[in-house]
Amino acid sequence: MIDEMSVVNDFASRLPVDVIGIFDALSIDYVEEPMAPGQSGRIHYEDPFCTVTVNATEGPQRKRFTAAHELGHYLLHRDLLDGKKHLDRLFSDSGRDNPYGPLAPSHEVQANKFAADLLMPAGILRARYDPARDNVTELADLCDVSHAAMEIRLKALGIRP
Ligand SMILES: [Zn+2]
Repeated sequence: MIDEMSVVNDFASRLPVDVIGIFDALSIDYVEEPMAPGQSGRIHYEDPFCTVTVNATEGPQRKRFTAAHELGHYLLHRDLLDGKKHLDRLFSDSGRDNPYGPLAPSHEVQANKFAADLLMPAGILRARYDPARDNVTELADLCDVSHAAMEIRLKALGIRP
């Protein structure tokens, strides 16, 4: 039995975090395939097998965030997912139309927080953000996330107004 959290923490110590490397290390199948517009990804868990599918038509940084979100579901919610599929619409304009079942909105919040913590570690952002230079782009590149995602993250952490 591998210690999943120590695997994740090991990968998390190297930026940008290699999310697909984590899937490989945890024996989670990762698939990119075209999905309907607005669908970001899904997770299908059937103990002990897990497949994460990400919409191939979305951009690389959205795919990374979706993959990290699904990893959060695997680590945090797999007991609720056993034998079921869960679909995510993480970036749709209406925002709140994620089909939650078999999960609840609070689980989506947890998976989003997991993804943000994994891809954009708070400690590193606090240490590296320089108000004099307002180096958002540099930090976004460091974490391989979009500029917009980094702005939201820095604001949520109270690092940048
Ligand atoms: Zn979800």
